[in-house]
Amino acid sequence: MITIALSKGRIFEETVPLLAAAGIVPSEDPERSRKLILSTNRADVRLVIVRASDVPTYVQHGAADLGVAGYDVLLEHGGAGLYQPLDLEIARCRLMVAVPRGFDYHDAVKQGARLRVATKYVESAREHFARKGVHVDLIKLYGSMELAPLVGLADAIVDLVSSGGTLAANDLVAVEHVLDVSSRLVVNQAALKLKCAGLQAILDAFAGARGPAA
Ligand code: ADP
Ligand code: MG
Repeated sequence: MITIALSKGRIFEETVPLLAAAGIVPSEDPERSRKLILSTNRADVRLVIVRASDVPTYVQHGAADLGVAGYDVLLEHGGAGLYQPLDLEIARCRLMVAVPRGFDYHDAVKQGARLRVATKYVESAREHFARKGVHVDLIKLYGSMELAPLVGLADAIVDLVSSGGTLAANDLVAVEHVLDVSSRLVVNQAALKLKCAGLQAILDAFAGARGPAA
């Protein structure tokens, strides 16, 4: 049995065509089903639906053989015990620093101000501000980062941006690029040795089919 860990939403939707290239078709849509283990057209392949940030953990411990995880999530996790053979180039977005419209971020940095920054991505944010020499107090949040500057919890946020619609809706503007994000295939190292033929066929199919979604 080969177990593949995926999260709902964008990553699942953009992985479906890659699975199809490997001859794998999920039996159900996770957006409609409450099941956490989904069978597929192949008796030897199943999908487990987990929180995006939990995908590396399932694969690291061998509860799943393969997974698809955002580079943002992999940087926070650290990647221990994971083989990362492929950037799937799906679920593309950017990790950005954003502030309320009207706040002069670059001037504040130039003045040497100490900024309160709210984010889910504390490791990537810490690295970024250290590299830039910006003094920050990081505030860890688990979601809805956009709210933090609006209610005085933080001066700035570090969050994922694709269209910019959520920032604009909350009167925030992106002021600095942190890193480009896309989702990667992660593989349990022991599984790769034990289930070599089955996993390699899936890896090869994914490699042949990956690329920006149309
Ligand atoms: P959760 O709700 O579990 O915290 P999300 O569903 O927001 O996580 O995001 C899951 C993954 O999808 C992220 O780790 C990231 O790699 C990717 N992602 C998040 N936001 C976007 C976006 N706006 N555009 C493209 N990919 C995104
Ligand atoms: Mg979400």
